[in-house]
Amino acid sequence: MPHLPEHLLAGYRNFMNGRYLTESGRYRELAREGQAPETMIVACCDSRSAPEAIFDAGPGELFVLRNVGNLVPPYEPDGEFHSTSAALEFAVQSLKVKNIVVMGHGRCGGIRAALDANAAPLSPGDFIGKWMSLIAPAAETVSASTFMTATERQTALERISIRYSLANLRTFPCVSILEGKGRLSLHGAWFDISTGELWVMNKETGDFERPVLE
Ligand SMILES: [Zn+2]
Repeated sequence: MPHLPEHLLAGYRNFMNGRYLTESGRYRELAREGQAPETMIVACCDSRSAPEAIFDAGPGELFVLRNVGNLVPPYEPDGEFHSTSAALEFAVQSLKVKNIVVMGHGRCGGIRAALDANAAPLSPGDFIGKWMSLIAPAAETVSASTFMTATERQTALERISIRYSLANLRTFPCVSILEGKGRLSLHGAWFDISTGELWVMNKETGDFERPVLE
């Protein structure tokens, strides 16, 4: 007998009776024609920062990559396992997305772990420790700011890590070439899960600002 947790089956029932019913034509069209999303989002795995919910996106609209801390590693063609780089390669080279948005969020556990130099590994593999060490230099700098509160340090590193990932995106030749040609644009955003506020990075200054909504 197939088995899934009851809440998932209940959710699926609602999906089939609700969203799928109203969007079944769109799903069929996407199945026939294939996907052609214009935007890739790099977001955190955190259950509270789902891009499809925040941007009210329908099927086929967003190509979403989620990892701990919404990080993009630097371009490293070394034959190792690079899941984030693989998703990026597919989005840029095959889907030819026009936008890539790196979206961080408040109260991020990955960022908190990066700030906690004394954190014990969760397992002998210490995968999170290794992954978050990508932003270790920034984390050390922010941690040294004794005039900042713990909350301020957390928010600062959440936003710095977005700028860091955007810089790493540009180390991928396919990204920098297409951006140079004006066919791909990169964006940063930060979502405050407690208030629902979305802060968007100003391209000129790098500051995060509230967008003006019509
Ligand atoms: Zn997170």
